[in-house]
Amino acid sequence: KTVKVGRALLSVFDKTGMVDFAAGLAAAGVELVSTGGTHKLIAGAGLPVREIADLTGFPEMMDGRVKTLHPKVHGGLLAVRDNAEHAASMDEHEIGAIDLVAVNLYPFEATIASGAGYDDVIENIDIGGPAMVRSAAKNHAYVTVVVDPSDYPAILAAIAATGGVPYEMRQKLAAKAYARTAAYDSVISGWFAKELNYPEIPYRSFAGTLREVMRYGENPHQWAGFYANGDSRPGVATARQVQGKSLSYNNINDTDAAFELVSEFDPAQVAAVAIIKHANPCGVALAGDLVTAYRNALRTDPVSAFGGIVATNREIDAATAEEIVKVFTEVIVAPSATPEAEAIIAAKKNLRLLLTGGIADPKAEGLNVKSVAGGLLVQTRDNGNVDDCELKVVTQKQPTATELADMRLAAKVAKHVKSNAIIYVKGGATVGIGAGQMSRVDSARVAHRKSIDAAEAAGVEGALTQGSVVASDAFFPFADGLEALVAAGATAVIQPGGSMRDAEVIAAADAAGIAMVFTGMRHFRH
Ligand code: 5GP
Repeated sequence: KTVKVGRALLSVFDKTGMVDFAAGLAAAGVELVSTGGTHKLIAGAGLPVREIADLTGFPEMMDGRVKTLHPKVHGGLLAVRDNAEHAASMDEHEIGAIDLVAVNLYPFEATIASGAGYDDVIENIDIGGPAMVRSAAKNHAYVTVVVDPSDYPAILAAIAATGGVPYEMRQKLAAKAYARTAAYDSVISGWFAKELNYPEIPYRSFAGTLREVMRYGENPHQWAGFYANGDSRPGVATARQVQGKSLSYNNINDTDAAFELVSEFDPAQVAAVAIIKHANPCGVALAGDLVTAYRNALRTDPVSAFGGIVATNREIDAATAEEIVKVFTEVIVAPSATPEAEAIIAAKKNLRLLLTGGIADPKAEGLNVKSVAGGLLVQTRDNGNVDDCELKVVTQKQPTATELADMRLAAKVAKHVKSNAIIYVKGGATVGIGAGQMSRVDSARVAHRKSIDAAEAAGVEGALTQGSVVASDAFFPFADGLEALVAAGATAVIQPGGSMRDAEVIAAADAAGIAMVFTGMRHFRH
């Protein structure tokens, strides 16, 4: 049933839409009560409004820590209106019903994003606000709770039409209210976890704000939404979409993979391009300039690159844009683009262009969350870097400086490829990528076989893998995987090492006369 709204308590940090909302309520004959700053705003607009201190008989105190924490507020919110005992308590203690609460909270998220110090952050934990939100939401049988200014118009419309807010609407607003307080507290606990280096806190939820409901998920019968967690660093969630159709669930997932991969390479040192399909790269290359890097990345697997996602670590220039638009591409993601490049890309109406304003920090800390039946798996992100590893040559043959440079590239790419990952690299570009096979030998063979097709497409004899170096995301359990690389023409291998049969694998490398380097760092990606 609809409950008539007689009195509303307004206490908002974000004052968006508040004057109009208060005016609408006042016009509908609702009595307004408000806290300090909100009161000032509403009274300043010439609307009748009582101060909270007038209602509670207590001043706001302790730097605002205690403003609304009072039985006259919480009794007015929580009383069951048609319960005789509750009604008697209200009479006895002169508690008036509060039928609507509009609250939004101290900006905890923005405070931590601004890099504020410990005490400042603590002061920005809202106490009275969430308490009112939770009280009002619990008593949604009678009370309307609103935490989001975008809900004000619908509430005003309902009150104008019926004098109150329909039950179904109050239920939904209550659900939204608890989602807000849950998210708020989870950001607070997440901050503590980081501040105290205490990631293993026993209870943990992961907050996000719904940015967008997508048309569907990985498949058309799946619901999907994109939740932003407030992280302001360059990446797919904070990128500006310049043009093109809206991004799908798969686009966002793949674009993230592409951008994280190119962010491994410092744009001040080298231009990097990655072409991604189904979250796996089908070509990655480094060069002195971007267009060369793009051409070399495309050569790895031009068939798979169709409908792919292109990421660059440097500003897209006209020459690169010209090349990219020759191939059907779903998304381009880059730190920036020149006006000429944007104009070239604009000719392809559907092609999405995302500009991130910079590259991601590959060494940044963060958490990675994955759902499993009955729970969530949480781990710190894989920010390991081959450049920080002590490389150990385990074969008689030493790798050359060129081979070593290519091995580092291969190892960085391997980190971004679904296991089992085998990456062949030559001259600063991938020439074969074996991804997601259930055996390492198969990944080695798949990449080799594909490189024969790519060689044919490029008009080259044999396989592109001839004379390449290879990275493996994990150790070789047997010598057969290594022998498959040798058969593909590899001259040097980089891998973590640590297998029970390392000795056999090293012997196979020595027998083939190739060089092998151990990193000690595995990069599984399942
Ligand atoms: P105002 O700008 O109206 O002075 O303050 C509004 C803010 O105060 C809102 O964000 C609201 O959640 C918060 N607030 C309301 N009551 C209390 C309280 O008793 N303690 C604390 N810490 N915050 C409160």
